[in-house]
Amino acid sequence: MTEFLIHSKRCFIEGQFIEATLHIKNQSIFDVYNSIHLVDGLEFLDVDNSIVMPGIIDAHVHINEPGRTHWEGFETATKAAALGGVTTLIEMPLNANPVTTNVEAFKIKQDASKNKLHVNCGFYGGVIPENSNDIEGLIKAGVFGIKGFLTHSGIDEFPNITKEELEAIAPILKKYDCPLLLHCELTDDDVPKVNNQKSYQEYLKSRPQHWETNAIDLALEIQKKFDIKVHIVHLSASEGIERIKKQKLESSNLTVETCAHYLFFNAEEIPDASPIYKCAPPIREKHNNDLLWEYLLNEGFNFLSSDHSPAPPEIKKLENGNLFEAWGGIAGLQFTLPVIWTEGKKQGLTLEKLIPLLTSQPANFLGLENKKGRLKKGFDADITIWNENEAFEISEKMIAHRHKATPYLNHKLKGKIIHTFVNGVQVVEDSSLKNLNMGKLLLKNQNTDNADYYELN
Ligand SMILES: [Zn+2]
Repeated sequence: MTEFLIHSKRCFIEGQFIEATLHIKNQSIFDVYNSIHLVDGLEFLDVDNSIVMPGIIDAHVHINEPGRTHWEGFETATKAAALGGVTTLIEMPLNANPVTTNVEAFKIKQDASKNKLHVNCGFYGGVIPENSNDIEGLIKAGVFGIKGFLTHSGIDEFPNITKEELEAIAPILKKYDCPLLLHCELTDDDVPKVNNQKSYQEYLKSRPQHWETNAIDLALEIQKKFDIKVHIVHLSASEGIERIKKQKLESSNLTVETCAHYLFFNAEEIPDASPIYKCAPPIREKHNNDLLWEYLLNEGFNFLSSDHSPAPPEIKKLENGNLFEAWGGIAGLQFTLPVIWTEGKKQGLTLEKLIPLLTSQPANFLGLENKKGRLKKGFDADITIWNENEAFEISEKMIAHRHKATPYLNHKLKGKIIHTFVNGVQVVEDSSLKNLNMGKLLLKNQNTDNADYYELN
């Protein structure tokens, strides 16, 4: 049992910064007092002017365990998450082996996570050709959504699906109000011939905007036809924005995210022969990314994520620099907040706009809005404390991901995470891990209306 107080002159409560004292008891926020408030016998943590906010919820993470634990595992990923102020993450149905496309594989993944969760972790299931009969079981077993690819996923055991296959599962998704998450790229041959496989510009041209917009059109069509929840993951193509905007006016069941790397890097600055920057869809040109920022500032994105998707250096082809052979995926789980904040400050982003995009808004998407994502009486005590003006440089030593390779290495960022609390227990103190194994496995509750989720272990 834990019971203590946290005081700050800047607690982020109901969309604004106020001086407050949080009373934490067991795993929850027992009470929120205005201003400074002492309670006899209770430990009092005064963080003065540091920001106290709800823990970050990263709704797009690839952990790869079991089967590809040498790429990334629960132990390392959730330590990195805690150090980055992430208190809940939702794990994608690939690139572990087996992929999470049936209940048996889902149970295997849950077992693999046991005693390795340093932050809370939930899961998505996957749709592939010929698993339409497994979707209902996955939903009932507690996944937070069903993810599918409209182009090759990079993993042979997770093939892409067709429009017909999506239409076949739409009624099941509708029945449970379960989100369909789509990787939107629709491949065609309308791309230039590649001459130099180490050229970033040639890689960029090999995955054009129209691949994304054609896939988005398909996603919008399915959303409209069945009135189901459709979520477009990692939007990179700014040409997709107008059509998404238009349909969002008609339906609240359409949601869209973008990721830290699309907001931080620009294609013009990416050197050739550097697959560390490779992801799909690709990081595009500055003029494109400025439009993503404009959409973000106009509150178009539902939330932001890391799409943390690492691989070992040999699979990232870091030595030979071949962008077409390299694994596509960027490691960045630990740095989402300072990365977006550092660039965001230049773009005119305020903290009041940024914090909900990482906390209450992903909670809304996941159906966790009654327990997580806000500092409120009765909510889970998942809390991140940081200083937005403190600068630091990313060094290999501080990276807790399984592999140190990340395009953020050596970047100077603003916004240092100081303390992280998961379920009322301090897991990070003064930017170092303190208590381990405090995370819970989260399963979405599809069976009753009286709880958002239930927890194992
Ligand atoms: Zn992803």
